[in-house]
Amino acid sequence: MPILEETTTVDASEWLPDAEVAILPAGSTEQHGPAMPLCTDFMAAETVARGIADRADVAVLPTVPVGVSAHHRHFHGSLWVSEDTFESYLTEILESLPDHGVEKAVIVNGHGGNVGSIGRIANELYRSETAFVVPWSWWEGVGDTPGEVLPESTSVPGHAGAFETAMILYAAAELVRTERFEEAATGQGDGRRWPEPAPRGYDFADWTDNGIHGDPRPATAAAGEALFEAARDSLDELVDWLAAESVDNLRPREHK
Ligand SMILES: [Zn+2]
Repeated sequence: MPILEETTTVDASEWLPDAEVAILPAGSTEQHGPAMPLCTDFMAAETVARGIADRADVAVLPTVPVGVSAHHRHFHGSLWVSEDTFESYLTEILESLPDHGVEKAVIVNGHGGNVGSIGRIANELYRSETAFVVPWSWWEGVGDTPGEVLPESTSVPGHAGAFETAMILYAAAELVRTERFEEAATGQGDGRRWPEPAPRGYDFADWTDNGIHGDPRPATAAAGEALFEAARDSLDELVDWLAAESVDNLRPREHK
């Protein structure tokens, strides 16, 4: 089972040379309102990433659990690092892979605040011809599934609404405080700190009183399983392509 942290160096010496694509899950440890655990974003990313761990041509790397979340700092328990730190840390993790012969990767992201940084990481590694990295947030892989399994939910991924809540009900139901769904849904306030055309807000505390944006009440574990399967299948398809592609064809073009 190619989950890197669960193997040994002896076993890795046997399967790592066959690994074509590294899968790096990254998320955040941040408030998700009264009902959802702080690990929501990294657990979702890890769950989807490990969904393809039975492939012989991937190495699933350890999950990066803290991300770019300073905009959640007003709420108890949120952790964050700067964009610079996050970008350096992930870049250097990915730079350690070519030594083991792995020059392609997918960052499976679970947190909206990481998106800009992950794009810059991939761009820099491409320009430096170190590795070809696909930035991929798990909610990009779910296609039409949210409309089918959570028709009441309009916000994807939202923040601690039905979409994320369904995923965690599937992945780790024991961490979801379902008895607080009502409080979560009704305690958000009016969603605007200043009148238009002023910005809606810069921090989560500017536009939500209790830290959530959405409504967890329609979430079910079955909906979460469907979202997981859709995302996993999309990731699997992405890795099919990436594994088959030659490294040469993933380098910057020659000057015209
Ligand atoms: Zn989240």
